[in-house]
Amino acid sequence: MGMLLESLRKLQKIEQDIAHVRGRIRVRTNAVNVQTRKIEKLEQERDSLSAQSIDRRKLADSLELDIKDRDAQVLSFRAGLNAARSNKEYAAILTQINTLKADSAQIEDRELTVMQNIESLKTQIDEIATQIESEEARLNEINSQSEKELTKLNGMLESLNKTREGATEGIPAGTLSTFERIAANYEGEAMAMIEIHGRKPPHTYICGGCFMGLTPEHANALSLRDEIRTCDNCGRILFIDPHAQQ
Ligand SMILES: [Zn+2]
Repeated sequence: MGMLLESLRKLQKIEQDIAHVRGRIRVRTNAVNVQTRKIEKLEQERDSLSAQSIDRRKLADSLELDIKDRDAQVLSFRAGLNAARSNKEYAAILTQINTLKADSAQIEDRELTVMQNIESLKTQIDEIATQIESEEARLNEINSQSEKELTKLNGMLESLNKTREGATEGIPAGTLSTFERIAANYEGEAMAMIEIHGRKPPHTYICGGCFMGLTPEHANALSLRDEIRTCDNCGRILFIDPHAQQ
């Protein structure tokens, strides 16, 4: 293999290492994001229950006022009873008192239901608060693990990038940009080895990147010249197995 393809293969090795380290950084960062979203969802749930609880509390307060209002009315009607001038008037006032009391009893029932509602909301809110606490502890754990790992991975990335810089020296700019474009498409795998099948000619040729057939022309040209030839199907830069060459 010629110098150009040899240096591109070295570069590809570094590119693949970089892609691998980037993948590990992604996984780590993702774990933190997933856990953060989990907590945010629980917090939203808790806030919505709290809002419901506040609404219920307002309703309970207004029902309480209604009851007090009716109690006051009952008291004033009771005073009227003593001043009643006839049995009919007395009976009429009594009916009003009984109606008010019946209303009050209904409102009290409603208030009781609302209070039970508030209690059950409180239980749910407390449960979610406990969940949030344990998920936050988990997040801290993930964060501290990630921090160490990310520091390590970023260090690796930095040193790989330096190695890469050295490895690009001597590669013509046009070739390098072709290589980079293809590498970006295939997670660093810009090159593919031509697989030669069959013991005797005519051999069949297959791209080791996409496993599609290749014309013999590529292998023939590459056995003579150190040049950039790309797979007609996937576009990877082709090379011949250096060990298979005589
Ligand atoms: Zn291919």
